[in-house]
Amino acid sequence: MSSWFDDLKTPRFKNAESTQKVAKIPEGLWGKCPSCGEIIQTRQLQENQSVCPECDHHLRISASERIASLTDENSFVPYGEGFRSNDPLKFDDQKPYAARLEQAIRSHKINDAFISGKGTCEGIPFHLGVFEFKFMGGSMGVVVGEKITLVLEGALKDRVPAVVVSASGGARMQEGILSLMQMAKTSAVIDRLRQEGIPYISILTDPTTGGVAASFAMLGDVILAEPRALIGFAGPRVIEQTIRQKLPEGFQRSEFLLKHGFVDRIVHRKNMKSELHQFFKIFGNRCQYNK
Ligand SMILES: [Zn+2]
Repeated sequence: MSSWFDDLKTPRFKNAESTQKVAKIPEGLWGKCPSCGEIIQTRQLQENQSVCPECDHHLRISASERIASLTDENSFVPYGEGFRSNDPLKFDDQKPYAARLEQAIRSHKINDAFISGKGTCEGIPFHLGVFEFKFMGGSMGVVVGEKITLVLEGALKDRVPAVVVSASGGARMQEGILSLMQMAKTSAVIDRLRQEGIPYISILTDPTTGGVAASFAMLGDVILAEPRALIGFAGPRVIEQTIRQKLPEGFQRSEFLLKHGFVDRIVHRKNMKSELHQFFKIFGNRCQYNK
């Protein structure tokens, strides 16, 4: 039985004006946190570098947002932008690879899943490469491998640190063995950096898996990870089916990897730039800015 008080709480007649206002809110103004489900204003989320203000969940961000968060304003100069895969295997599954590429290039306005360039971090010059996960799941083919190599070689030539931020599903299957070769190619340059004492810092973000996790991403002099990022080679289901065992809680998340010695440090997105700067100073004794 409803009382006069209930009626007050839930007015039977909706205010026409207020309903109109609700309908007018443009799409994309509000977003839902995939972790805690909280509804957050998009602007508020952007101001917070896409970290949920309620539960601190680090949402995936684009390569350009990442670059902006790690470099000094207007310091980043990209290179290798024109590189495009020429579909060497003429691969075709449900849809030709060439068509998939074309579609990805058109919708993301970049030629492949990686942005490479040079910038400064609190005044210190460095070479930076960042995966664009939205572009074919951040998969690594010939172009991505070449651009990672350019970042590492650029650092070697200029004697400044190299940083690669990974967000990838692994090797690009449409480029078959050629994509797997990028694992060896990138790892070989890292060895040259090591011989020269030039620091290479790897930042693992959600998700870092497959051939990327199995090569340069895990070869950093320092390996940093964002909180709760998925990091691993094969997916948990595949592993469970293979070893016929239940995997432990939190398996393949940053915190688990830190505990087991695969990651050096978990860094909050807001602190990543200042931590990078600290590492550049600590490990930069053979770099040009310390001369
Ligand atoms: Zn949240």
